[in-house]
Formats: sequence, C-alpha cells, structure tokens
Amino acid sequence: MAVFDLVDFDNHEQVVYCSDSASGLKAIIAVHSTALGPAAGGCRFWDYASDEAALKDVLRLSKGMTYKNAMAGLKLGGGKGVIIGDPKNLKSDSLFKAFGTAVNNLNGRYYTAEDVNITTGDMAMVNQNTEFVSGLEGKSGNPGPFTALGTFLGIKAAVKFKLGKDDLTGIKVAVQGLGSVGYSLCEKLHNAGAELVVTDINQVALDKAASELNATVVGLDEIYNQDVDVFSPCALGASIDDNSIAQLKAVIIAGCANNQLAEARHDQVLQEKGILYAPDYVINAGGIINVALEIYPEPYCADSATKLVEKIYHTLMNIFETAVDKNMPTGFISDQMARDIITNGHIHNS
Ligand code: NAD
Repeated sequence: MAVFDLVDFDNHEQVVYCSDSASGLKAIIAVHSTALGPAAGGCRFWDYASDEAALKDVLRLSKGMTYKNAMAGLKLGGGKGVIIGDPKNLKSDSLFKAFGTAVNNLNGRYYTAEDVNITTGDMAMVNQNTEFVSGLEGKSGNPGPFTALGTFLGIKAAVKFKLGKDDLTGIKVAVQGLGSVGYSLCEKLHNAGAELVVTDINQVALDKAASELNATVVGLDEIYNQDVDVFSPCALGASIDDNSIAQLKAVIIAGCANNQLAEARHDQVLQEKGILYAPDYVINAGGIINVALEIYPEPYCADSATKLVEKIYHTLMNIFETAVDKNMPTGFISDQMARDIITNGHIHNS
C-alpha cells in the first residue's frame, strides 16, 4: 500500500503497523505530529472493510487530533490508534495487553485512550504493559461533562457573536442526540433559560428531556427544519450535508459531534448561507482537555481542567471574528490557526 501517496497522508511523523499472532492483534498507530508535545488521541476498535480503509482512518483521525489539541491550547501533538477486526469476536485481555506493548514501544511519543468500541476496562489491560495511557478509571474520569461544558460555552459565544445576546434566555436550540454529552448540554441550556427541541433514537432519553427540561420532542428527520436559533449536532458525524443544510432555519451550528460536516466544502456552503458554524474539533475539546491533565506531570485537578475548558469561548470568538475579517469560512480559519500554532507556537492574525 503506497502510504506516502495517499490523500490523507499529511507528512505524518510515524505510521506503525503492529501485530501479535497469539492474540490476533492487528493495529495501526499513526503519530501525526509531536511538535507541541507527545501525540495524544484515542484508539478505536473497528471492523474495517480493508486494511487500506483502516490506514486512511488512522491518518485522518491522527491529523484531526493534532489540530484539536493545538486549538485547545494543549502541549500535546496528535496521534491515533486503530485495532482492526470485529470487537465482538476479537476482544481479549491478551489482545489489549499486546496493544499496550505496541504503544510502549513508541517510548511515550504516543498516549492512547478510549475511543469507539473500547472501554475503560479495556484500557486498564493496555495499561498493564504501558504507562502511556490516559482516561483511566479513578483518574480524570468521564470526559462527557467537560465536553458538555465546552459545547455550552461555545453556543454562548456563537449566540453573542451572531445575535448580540449575552444570555440564552428565550434562545431556541435544536439538539440532535441526548447521550452522555447531549443530555448534560441540554441541562445547562435549560438552566440558562434556553428553549429546547430534541430528537434521539432513545425514547427513554426523550421522555426524560420532555419531563425534566420541558423539551419539545420531534422525529429524527424533523430536527433540521425547526424554527430555532441554534442547531446542535450531538449524535453521529456527517449530519451537515446538502440535504440538512437546505432544511436548516437555524443561523448557528454548534454541537459536540465529531466530524459534523459531511464534506469539507460544506464549510463554505454554510458561510455563503450566513450560518455561523462553530468548528467541531474546537467546540468539543472539553473532554480531551480534561484527559490531557492526566497526561501532564502535575497531579490531575478538575478545577484546572474547567479553567482550560472555559477558554473555548474565547478561542471560538477569535475564530468567528477572524473569519468575518478575512471573509473566509470558520472551519478554514480554524485549520489555519491550528497550523500556525503547530508551526510557530502561536497564532498570527495578520
Ligand atoms: P453517546 O453515545 O453517549 O450519545 C449519542 C446519542 O446519540 C445517543 O443518545 C444515541 O441514542 C443518539 N443517536 C444515535 N443515532 C442518532 C440519530 N440518528 N439521531 C439522533 N440521535 C441519535 O455519545 P456522546 O459521548 O454523548 O458523544 C456524542 C458525540 O460527541 C459523538 O459524535 C462523539 O464522537 C462526540 N464527542 C464526544 C465526546 C465525549 O466527551 N463524550 C468528546 C468529543 C466529541
């Protein structure tokens, strides 16, 4: 497979193929950049259609982590791991320990953590063979509430910038997905006086939001065309596409989901339609900020994590203002700022 020719190859520092025949481990670890510090990013377990698909995913995700960590102000680079195969059949303690050995062989250039299909219990097994693990039980804990706080502050920044309002009283928000982050976000929005319209595939979560948060429940396809100020994607990625954009009445998109834009060009489509988009990897960085404090040499402190998460408001405001000044889409500006931080250690706004 010609790694260097792939579109997703972005001068990654290191791409490591790892295998252990005894446990059946087949994995790829990509270290995109260590310019700002050790590469950090979770590991996902996925039954990829091919090894090439796994390689593309790990290249793309590790680059995303470099940008996310840079914009979050963390002294961390970007990396990612993927374990190839069906987690239902392959998961075993020995497989995770073998993955731990692979991580350990990188001597601290890559810190791993949970991602899709990997639990804190699995990471405890990885931790048996390497210290370069974060997000362990009993340490920084569930990142969800920190991600929800960052997303809430990001919505506040977007409302201030687009609608000139300092508080959320009467602001209407459509939330897609009431999971770990989405529900916690809804609680914060409700407490701040916002009116909620919600959807999910989970009826229990919907009933709870209706009774506890006075939320209006709508169907999965109805969430896009609601008469609201903010659309907040908090479920799966790629929900912003030509079809959903055509339906949106919201003037702001600000939610926690990863990879919200179905295609990169949707960044510009949103700008042309006058919809303010809070770049996903900036607004949803609360969780990685919390996890990062577990990696730093200083003891973990939730207050320090909260203070860092609060900076997301100002980072987004800077992106929004620069995007208007330069008449460019917000995602483009954010990527540019991230690259600037990685190259120069700080942002040039000129
Ligand atoms: P979760 O699995 O707890 O919640 C996802 C919710 O979306 C569930 O309630 C699920 O029922 C619902 N859902 C699934 N399909 C749906 C659909 N088609 N329409 C509406 N709802 C649907 O996940 P989470 O931890 O809350 O994360 C939500 C999103 O935020 C994901 O994209 C995740 O990658 C991203 N994210 C999470 C964190 C974190 O700290 N947990 C950090 C950064 C980004």
